[in-house]
Amino acid sequence: VGDVTDRVALTPVAIREGHAFADTVFGGKDIQVDHDLIATAVFSQPEIGTVGLTEAQARDKYKEVDIYKSVFRPMRHTLSGRDEKMLMKLIVATSTDRVVGCHIMGPDAGEMAQLLGISMKMGATKADFDATMAVHPTAAEELVTMRTKWEG
Ligand SMILES: Cc1cc2nc3c(=O)[nH]c(=O)nc-3n(C[C@H](O)[C@H](O)[C@H](O)COP(=O)(O)OP(=O)(O)OC[C@H]3O[C@@H](n4cnc5c(N)ncnc54)[C@H](O)[C@@H]3O)c2cc1C
Repeated sequence: VGDVTDRVALTPVAIREGHAFADTVFGGKDIQVDHDLIATAVFSQPEIGTVGLTEAQARDKYKEVDIYKSVFRPMRHTLSGRDEKMLMKLIVATSTDRVVGCHIMGPDAGEMAQLLGISMKMGATKADFDATMAVHPTAAEELVTMRTKWEG
């Protein structure tokens, strides 16, 4: 379990795999760890948060994908005067409308990725994102207000 398997080198994954091993071998429960759609963050400056497939991986896996991309200055910086930008990108499998990738760069990206991980694990579609009311004025509201496909 954990890093030594060279699968997904993250603390929560190692803990989950350790629990699954103990439950299976000593607890009489056959527990499988689901490694799909693990939300991750890079605590750099700017911060990065990501869930699911990259655009390249999605294009390999699905016949058609829709990309939604937004680069903007978070509302909070209109007060601080800082010029730091935020980037958000949604990758949608056209055939099912499922959001299969989400990538965020900017303040609190890791926090957003954790919550996106729940909705994406539940199979959220772009229509579900669109039907979700925005929390204003947040940066995360951009995730539910992107309407125009990015043509590259
Ligand atoms: C710089 C850095 C930053 C990271 N940041 C994050 C992060 O922000 N978030 C996150 O989720 N993950 C992060 N990780 C990854 C995370 O630390 C690992 O995925 C996690 O610790 C894996 O747990 P593990 O129990 O598998 O291995 P480890 O935590 O490496 O534990 C293995 C233990 O085995 C011991 N050991 C090795 N060989 C032997 C031996 N022969 N006999 C006895 N003991 C031995 C080691 O000393 C160690 O204590 C980071 C890793 C690094 C290096």
